[in-house]
Amino acid sequence: MKNAAIRGWLLWTLLACPFSGVAQRIEYQKVEPSVIVDRLRRAADKNPEREQALHALFEEAGCKAEQLAEQPLKGSRTPNVVCTLKGTEDATIIVGAHYDKVDNGHGVVDNWSGASLLPSFFQGLQAKPRRTTFVFIGFASEENGLVGSKFYVSRLTKDQREAIRAMVNIDSLGLSDTKVWLSYADKKLASAAFKVAHSLNLPLAVVNVEKVGLSDAGPFREKKIPCIDFHSVTQETLPILHSPRDTLSAIRLPEYQNSYALLMAYLAYLDAAGSPHTEQ
Ligand SMILES: [Zn+2]
Repeated sequence: MKNAAIRGWLLWTLLACPFSGVAQRIEYQKVEPSVIVDRLRRAADKNPEREQALHALFEEAGCKAEQLAEQPLKGSRTPNVVCTLKGTEDATIIVGAHYDKVDNGHGVVDNWSGASLLPSFFQGLQAKPRRTTFVFIGFASEENGLVGSKFYVSRLTKDQREAIRAMVNIDSLGLSDTKVWLSYADKKLASAAFKVAHSLNLPLAVVNVEKVGLSDAGPFREKKIPCIDFHSVTQETLPILHSPRDTLSAIRLPEYQNSYALLMAYLAYLDAAGSPHTEQ
């Protein structure tokens, strides 16, 4: 299944890097759409089962035992799930998505839609050497007040913190085309996202959600780490979150596949573009 899950290499050239003017070639493997949907369907109803399902998905995606860790948390019965893809440099990009849900609904949109993509991003990046070290984190207990992300940031050493070039947070995809929370985003991370979207001819729109809630990027932003949040929430679809309507049927699969394609390419682009491409 692992081989069948992969299409051939997708080679893509950016003709004009907006930062350096130099052409960028990015390479990654795209996971088959059917696999993306299968992983989305694995949403369980209880948080401990969701933790186990995410752990299993990382294993299936090729994240080996020595790359895969559980970080137990104070104040949460379930741990953060952390899969690390070492690059040749210490420079690190955190890719985060909480896997926990509220009691209401099935938590497919919020946020199995994001968490279940993390193993596919790992899979797409891992077959080629990377400069950047990628750390994929399924955060626990976001819904209880960002417990997992706050704890993760609190345990970083100064060196680890300073090595983080970007925190890419993903929460609640598939309700519509990909949205970026621009008012909170690092400007260079955001302009890179629009560049990738434009180059791939994939939609990316701005919907700021500061009135709605918190994000696992918050604790990173407080430490001056460049952050960007992706979601799919609009005024019309907002009531689906934390409601009985948050089920698989709330997900628009074509839009969800587009979000996967965009974010997959975006991560590969950030690796190829390197560290000068954030504000720090
Ligand atoms: Zn959420």
